[in-house]
Amino acid sequence: MLNIVLFGPPGAGKGTQSEKLIARYQLVHLSTGDIFRANIKGETELGKLAKSFIDKGELVPDSVTISMLESEVNKFENPKGFIFDGFPRTSAQAQALDQFLSSKNAEITCMLALEVEEEELRVRLYNRAKTSGRPDDADPEVIQNRIDVYNRETAPVADFYRGQGKYKGIDGIGSIDEISNRLFEAIEAIVA
Ligand code: AMP
Repeated sequence: MLNIVLFGPPGAGKGTQSEKLIARYQLVHLSTGDIFRANIKGETELGKLAKSFIDKGELVPDSVTISMLESEVNKFENPKGFIFDGFPRTSAQAQALDQFLSSKNAEITCMLALEVEEEELRVRLYNRAKTSGRPDDADPEVIQNRIDVYNRETAPVADFYRGQGKYKGIDGIGSIDEISNRLFEAIEAIVA
């Protein structure tokens, strides 16, 4: 299996690049943000709970997020692999994912981390708000909180994978295709 954690701050291009990776490697795309938004749209209990955190730019609690992710993974029989997009976002989530995958005799192949500086992120999120319809993209205070939460709680997750020799930084500035090509090269160097 090819199991990729696609990592990076909000606005780094994880969603866009996930599409490219799925097309090339036929992986299952699991975006915790997308799953939460589908639940919000469907007005489920999970959606109501998630919305109260997402609207403020806070993380949804680990216990809720981890069990949701695990049940999504369990929906697939014999997948070629997964792209985890927006998960794990805390060290506890990273540990839980490792344990869960090892119970299935699987593991994370690599973390590919899209590197984009903060000023560029703010510009991208501001522009994305015009088309995404996401309330959490539209409010500068919420955007700043998401960046702060990323720096405080999510950035340390990179060290978890660095410690396992699975971290690969990718320059996230350039055209969509340029960045995809960097990701493809990194993956092909790892699985070669
Ligand atoms: P995203 O679409 O990845 O930008 O996620 C949108 C929002 O969903 C985040 O700002 C969080 O509030 C929530 N969220 C997504 N993934 C996670 C996660 N792994 N852990 C906690 N909250 C999450």
